[in-house]
Amino acid sequence: MTTLTDRRHTDTQALAPAQAGDLDIAATRAEFPILSRQVNGRRLVYLDNAATSQKPRAVIRGISRYYEQENANIHRGVHLLSVEATEAHDAARRTVQRFVNAARESEIVFVRGATEAINLVAQTFGRAQVAEGDEVLITAMEHHSNIVPWQMLCEEKRARLRVVPIDDQGELLLDEFEKLIGPRTRLVAVTHVSNALGTVNPVREIIAIAHGHGVPVLVDGAQAAPHFAVDVQDLNCDFYAFSGHKVYGPTGIGVLYGKYTFLDAMPPYQGGGDMISSVTFEKTTYKKPPSKFEAGTPDIAGAIGLGAALDYVTGLGIDRVAAHEHDLLEYATERVGAIPGVRLIGTAAQRAGVLSFIHKDVHPHDLGTILDGEGIAIRAGHHCAQPVMERFCIPATTRASFALYNTRDEIDALVEGIKKAQKVFGQ
Ligand code: PMP
Repeated sequence: MTTLTDRRHTDTQALAPAQAGDLDIAATRAEFPILSRQVNGRRLVYLDNAATSQKPRAVIRGISRYYEQENANIHRGVHLLSVEATEAHDAARRTVQRFVNAARESEIVFVRGATEAINLVAQTFGRAQVAEGDEVLITAMEHHSNIVPWQMLCEEKRARLRVVPIDDQGELLLDEFEKLIGPRTRLVAVTHVSNALGTVNPVREIIAIAHGHGVPVLVDGAQAAPHFAVDVQDLNCDFYAFSGHKVYGPTGIGVLYGKYTFLDAMPPYQGGGDMISSVTFEKTTYKKPPSKFEAGTPDIAGAIGLGAALDYVTGLGIDRVAAHEHDLLEYATERVGAIPGVRLIGTAAQRAGVLSFIHKDVHPHDLGTILDGEGIAIRAGHHCAQPVMERFCIPATTRASFALYNTRDEIDALVEGIKKAQKVFGQ
């Protein structure tokens, strides 16, 4: 029998069996100090979690403890502090390994965030594997950070960037994907969850199709890792990227998972200390992964903070988090969708974390300003996904995005705020 914590959903069937009421939300909220502050004289309603999530005490304490008790550089010192800092950093890598169920600790590379993870793959794997006339296949719902690195690579190599289209609901057209993948495709790079639409892509299926053509797949998991269990072995992805700060960890730290055989074959990313075996002016030899990709002093406190964040989420139960957020998204979809003048952007059957919409009378930026006056933080704009806006022929959307500490009451406040803006701007 599968238990709550054993069961890992990794694909479009995501988000079900744990119950929405399984989390003690009041107790959980109390762990996030920022949630008790006031904004513009109102209680903070934080619905900008897709941009970055708030941090629980466990993370803040973990970082403080490191600086108060253990601060030293890692891998170099013979003294106790350095040994302790190295152990804490190594432990964080093992926590990440468990969180995404990687087969080996050495498959986890610490980077600055999802952006750097993708750039790393483009600049190492991409530069080595992509030649003139080759193709890199992405989708029409990618964040700029999963477009621009590939565009830069394709420009340099005279390769071709090809784009799988999406339908009016914001779902990927899988038959078009099958038509576009071919003998010149060197890599598929696809988002697990769209930050602009909330669409959960069927990445396991996409990976199986790509592998059928001998093509490796990078999954941008920036918007997936915070919302449901990710199992890289089950997905069978070749690379998986995510950012610490969206999954309750600090900014400045993120993860690139890569299958060991790929990481081992890839050239290094940046040169410097800690990534070498030996250096002479004639020749330098490199360490094995992940060190090969981690030149220089890393964000030690960041890794420790990320480890604390992932332990926190695991302690709550990622499936409980998923169930709670699924309930919030359904509630928000129903309530916001019922407001006259609102059009939801992104109505895929499988969504996570994000509700994007426009209002016929209120520009997203005006709505954002009115909501801010009510203490409600949302995002207005193109969400670093301009091609998605172009696809829907709109300049911007308003985006409310959810985290484990949000409540139905906060969605009610959002609805009231939208109605207020409608009164101010409505015809
Ligand atoms: N991919 C997606 C889908 C994202 O939403 C984001 C952040 N908005 C990124 C990549 C980039 O993440 P970061 O800025 O933390 O590197």
